[in-house]
Amino acid sequence: MAKAKSNTDKKATPSKRNPGAGEGNSQLEKLFTDSLKDIYWAEKALTRSLPKMQEAATTNELKNAIEEHIAQTEEQVIRLEQVFELLGQKAQAKKCDAMEGLISEGESVIEDTEEGSRTRDAGIIMAAQKVEHYEIATYGSLVQLALTLGENEAAEILGQTLEEEKQTDKALTEIAENDINWAAEQEEETARKN
Ligand code: FE
Ligand code: FE
Ligand code: FE
Repeated sequence: MAKAKSNTDKKATPSKRNPGAGEGNSQLEKLFTDSLKDIYWAEKALTRSLPKMQEAATTNELKNAIEEHIAQTEEQVIRLEQVFELLGQKAQAKKCDAMEGLISEGESVIEDTEEGSRTRDAGIIMAAQKVEHYEIATYGSLVQLALTLGENEAAEILGQTLEEEKQTDKALTEIAENDINWAAEQEEETARKN
């Protein structure tokens, strides 16, 4: 009898993690941590995918821009681990279906364009910008969620990454507008050997 009672008591008093944050809105906290796991998976997937994009790119300008963002992406993975730590949680990745799709789109662009062509670079830029826009949307929301939950330090860390994603998007636009799209437009359509 005494044993059963003690079990009941245990269930009735769930321990609260981080009680100071966001007045204990556990649903919002769960959304926040689930979204962190999602983008953690996405960033880690990008550290594997971006080098393939870089290798496939034609111009040094694009190769350099991607190289810079590979280094940033590795740093972004570490930042997410810091955020998990701030929340008192183990860093955990949960598959992001959207990023998986965006990455596979990027890989199809490589398959569907000719090696050494500016058209390939135009396609890689388009694919990369889709990725950056997904990241901008995600980090923009995460910063706001962190602030709402009173996780100001996490908000600041996530905000640093948000800035890098915005800068990358801008840099890619400049490369496309200044050079690659015009050069690609001059490329002749080549007959595909099937
Ligand atoms: Fe990123
Ligand atoms: Fe996702
Ligand atoms: Fe990015």
